[in-house]
Amino acid sequence: MNHNILLKNKRKLFCKKCFAHYKNPETKIKNKMKIIICKECGYVSR
Ligand SMILES: [Zn+2]
Repeated sequence: MNHNILLKNKRKLFCKKCFAHYKNPETKIKNKMKIIICKECGYVSR
């Protein structure tokens, strides 16, 4: 029985500022750190 559904979405990606879920997150690697830019408010999470 395989019930491993959506285990790939274990990471909850949402903006800490406006709490909007990243529908299509823009991730960039900068200084060996992955940053996510919120398209709603422009908040950069590291
Ligand atoms: Zn935001």
